[in-house]
Amino acid sequence: MASSTDRNAAKRVAIVGAGTSGLAACKHLLARGFRPVVFEAGASVGGLWTRTLASTRLQSPHVAYRFSDFPWPEGVDWFPSHDQVVDYLAAYARRFGVDECVRFRSRVVAAEHVGEDDDAADGEMWAGNGEAFGIDGAGVWRLTVLHGDSDATQMYEFDFLILCIGRFSGVPNIPAFPPNGGPDAFRGQVLHSMDLSDMDDADAAALVKDKRVAVVGSGKSAYDIAAECAEANGVEHPCTMVCRSPQWIVHDTEVWGKVNLGYLFVNRFAELMIRKPEAGIVSSLLATLLTPLAWLISKVTEAYYKKAIPMREYGMEPEYGFAGSISACKTGMLPDGLAFYDRVKDGSIVFRRSRSFSFCEDGLVLDGADDHQRVVVPADLVILATGFRGDQKLRDMFVSPRVKEIVAGSSDTTVPLYRECVHPRIPQMAVIGYSDSLTNIYTSEMMAKWVARFLDGAFRLPSVRRMEQIVAEWGRYMKRSSGDRFRRSCLGAVNIWYNDQLCRDMGCKQRRKKGLVAEWFQPYGPADYADIQ
Ligand SMILES: Cc1cc2nc3c(=O)[nH]c(=O)nc-3n(C[C@H](O)[C@H](O)[C@H](O)COP(=O)(O)OP(=O)(O)OC[C@H]3O[C@@H](n4cnc5c(N)ncnc54)[C@H](O)[C@@H]3O)c2cc1C
Repeated sequence: MASSTDRNAAKRVAIVGAGTSGLAACKHLLARGFRPVVFEAGASVGGLWTRTLASTRLQSPHVAYRFSDFPWPEGVDWFPSHDQVVDYLAAYARRFGVDECVRFRSRVVAAEHVGEDDDAADGEMWAGNGEAFGIDGAGVWRLTVLHGDSDATQMYEFDFLILCIGRFSGVPNIPAFPPNGGPDAFRGQVLHSMDLSDMDDADAAALVKDKRVAVVGSGKSAYDIAAECAEANGVEHPCTMVCRSPQWIVHDTEVWGKVNLGYLFVNRFAELMIRKPEAGIVSSLLATLLTPLAWLISKVTEAYYKKAIPMREYGMEPEYGFAGSISACKTGMLPDGLAFYDRVKDGSIVFRRSRSFSFCEDGLVLDGADDHQRVVVPADLVILATGFRGDQKLRDMFVSPRVKEIVAGSSDTTVPLYRECVHPRIPQMAVIGYSDSLTNIYTSEMMAKWVARFLDGAFRLPSVRRMEQIVAEWGRYMKRSSGDRFRRSCLGAVNIWYNDQLCRDMGCKQRRKKGLVAEWFQPYGPADYADIQ
């Protein structure tokens, strides 16, 4: 009889993408005896970290942004630079033999599930029996891959497909514009932040030098770009940041210099204050009773940041609370900490609030600004830091119109994935890295562990109907907790609870700290799950 290692080695598993998610997926599959093939469009591992702005750093401290069993080298910066992140990811790939599985410069241009009939796809159990590889004779995934620079494609067949293609790269989100108000109306140049990240550092610096730059967006990338432009051009050519809705972009993680944010928002006690999906009535009742405490913690945190950062003075005070920003994964770190606001004070960076914008010949036209007047921001270069269309990127992978239609949900739902990994109606496939959290590598690796054990036969999925109910419940939670900031799935405020569900499925213990006080009050992080291999 074949051992489980032989059985797993014989299964054909494809991973698409060698960013943090793909690396984790490959490592954990190797650990369980699989021999996956990783197709990576780029020439090296690391995903988006290989293509960032010169100044991009991790926003999460390195202790929180790490693989569970692979600490950072001694002496690394508290917030590592993008080069340090790439080195760390490459070292991980080498250490666990992941790099030997990767086929670089190999872009998957189409994925098609063949062999299943429509009844199987709409059956009661996923893939017929709720197992990774389905009932005997279940379908295969046929991948069309473009290697190197050639136009010729090759076909491959796999028993299981894991998509790790990245939510925050590849397909830019470009806002819709009124007729004659799009980029064509502008005589200057328009780029997406992604284009700037893809450029060589020297070329990017030369591009912004001596230009009037307008950056649209209020997330971390917009702040990074504005800081780089201010550094290059100073007050002579101020950089205008056009923001619709300011976010909590803060300077440090120690509230009032004393308490780390982790103790306030990333421990079990903090999660007691939240009405969680799949939690019972007692848990929901307790959360309701603790609402005043949750409110107080959020207010104390907000008060600290409002005192330390002159956001009010410049009209950049967020309209929602800090806790809401954790729930919606909208919190970020200021480039250079409070020094960023020195650039605002000296006039190198100018904030403009606007609900919408369009282009005119000379620059941007802001609409619905604070004073409700139409304002023109003159510019030579406009950079759209307006995010990504991860949903579209996912749809673009597939040949089948049915899969294209269902895979990413609709514009007002999350990508409908059970345990944020498996679509209830798409068999033999998992997606990793499509849910945000306070540190994404932590979540992606937990998903990778869950997917690897699932493929190893450690557990079965519940019925399709039950999975859909659970997906809907998590979706409702995310919409409720993010309010009108809802854009995508975010586990920021319920990460431990989410990990509990994964651990329960995998048959691993959920409580992972030593002692009651630590269990309830210490922040949870990747290292707490290091023993789950
Ligand atoms: C500027 C920026 C800063 C960030 N900073 C932080 C941070 O500080 N902390 C944090 O937690 N998160 C941060 N994030 C979120 C970040 O997305 C995740 O931390 C993580 O790096 C995502 O990894 P990934 O592997 O899921 O995706 P990616 O890194 O995007 O990797 C996807 C990989 O798939 C490949 N690929 C895609 N499509 C195909 C295809 N069809 N065929 C073959 N290969 C393909 C791509 O080439 C790429 O290598 C940041 C994101 C951005 C954009």
